[in-house]
Amino acid sequence: MKKDKALVVFSGGQDSTTCLFWAKKEFKEVEAVTFNYGQRHVAELDCAKEITEDLQVPHHILDMSLLNQLAPSALTRDEAITQEEGQLPSTFVPGRNLLFLSFAGVLAKQIGAKHIITGVCETDFSGYPDCRDIFVKSLNVSLNLSMDEQFVIHTPLMWIDKAQTWEMADELNALEYIRERTLTCYNGVKGNGCGECPACELRQKGLNEYMKSKKGGGE
Ligand code: ZN
Repeated sequence: MKKDKALVVFSGGQDSTTCLFWAKKEFKEVEAVTFNYGQRHVAELDCAKEITEDLQVPHHILDMSLLNQLAPSALTRDEAITQEEGQLPSTFVPGRNLLFLSFAGVLAKQIGAKHIITGVCETDFSGYPDCRDIFVKSLNVSLNLSMDEQFVIHTPLMWIDKAQTWEMADELNALEYIRERTLTCYNGVKGNGCGECPACELRQKGLNEYMKSKKGGGE
């Protein structure tokens, strides 16, 4: 039996679009929220709008430009994306998921959604502390205590890698859709992307691995 209402934290990228398809399968009603924090590429927001319209998912866009005011990063400024050994990449925005998930919680309360879905993942290369399972669980408790609610934060991608995320998209009959319609690239190129930035490399590597295992699996 499908559970009732869910809110998906949605960026228009591969991971959150996979989560959106997953949510549509698991929940009776699904809405999405996108945070506008002065991303380098407005294409991201357009992409998120297009996908939610196309899938007929009510879409909320919240202005979070204060995040850029507090902590500009390589995601919002036009600068090279770098990662020194043993350090977080220059795309790290301190507190981003803390704030996003907290605002998602407030919105979820407003729209009567008990379930909150986010595409964060510990298996990812970057090691952002606020993408870790322990952080999400701790915030889940804090949100519930702060509003006297029983929210459940779901992280369907937490323990899987990019190849397995493609596999999940395929199982949801959404592989081609996600391949063509989502934007993960740091240079703002939709679909297969620029092919050169770290996000494109990771996405392509995962896709190659999955396609190879699919052929090899003989299914
Ligand atoms: Zn790229």
